[in-house]
Amino acid sequence: MELMIPLPLVLPDAPLDLAPLEEAVRAWGLQVQQQALALAWERQAALRPPASCPTCHGGDLRPAGRQPRQVETTFGPVWLARRRQRCRGCGRHFQPDDAVLSPAVGAGQCPPAVRELAALSGASWPYRSAARVLSRLRGSPVAPETIRQAVAQAGAMVAAQVAAEAQAACQPPPGAPDPTRPVPPRLVVELDGAWVRSHDNADGCPLGDGGEGGGGSQRGRARRAPPHAPARAALRRHAGRGGRLRPAGDGRGGAPQRRRGAAADAAGRRRRVGCPLGDGSWGRRS
Ligand SMILES: [Zn+2]
Repeated sequence: MELMIPLPLVLPDAPLDLAPLEEAVRAWGLQVQQQALALAWERQAALRPPASCPTCHGGDLRPAGRQPRQVETTFGPVWLARRRQRCRGCGRHFQPDDAVLSPAVGAGQCPPAVRELAALSGASWPYRSAARVLSRLRGSPVAPETIRQAVAQAGAMVAAQVAAEAQAACQPPPGAPDPTRPVPPRLVVELDGAWVRSHDNADGCPLGDGGEGGGGSQRGRARRAPPHAPARAALRRHAGRGGRLRPAGDGRGGAPQRRRGAAADAAGRRRRVGCPLGDGSWGRRS
């Protein structure tokens, strides 16, 4: 399909400066685009498959003229001719081209490209300023209320998308325990070890009595010292007191380096760690 737009560029015979010449060419270009879209819409309509009556679904139709509809494009207003047909079965009139046009513009006049441009400009500037800029770009006025509606529509879509993503993120991962199963009225959680991962230190934070690496603010100390430094210090203190070292909590040899901190602590002192429960209280091993 090849379309020709017969629209000459008419300029005054007097010499023009660059600015008015550019403006004249720009206005001509907008008219070319408007005529091209109207012609392309009409030619494309002839390629669409025949429609059936939306009321009785009958296929016995006859042409009943055209009914144009104006849309506001990025290059100005364009009148699109819609074929009008009459159903011989029920006598109703309808426009089969609305099946293509309505999803794009809805009940308004702005195609998606214009709404996107209006939403971007309206999110960047005040509505009145955005309307002036958009009017200048497309060569036809745009109301600030149009900008506001485009921003509201785009904002509602973004909010719905964010809410859907948040809801999906809050869903339990595959393989997670069934959240509907019966739960005990009170749940006590015991931590067997000296290093616990936290959001301040992904390598683990020492829990304990405020000795080396224990108690108080752990952030700066945990970042300056390697994770096993407090455990080595505990081992030295314990050995100096003549204590006997025991393996890590599971009793098996070859525990990881980080677990040796737990072994040293377990040898010297057994810690009882309280953990927050669902009701806000703290459970502690008795
Ligand atoms: Zn019908």
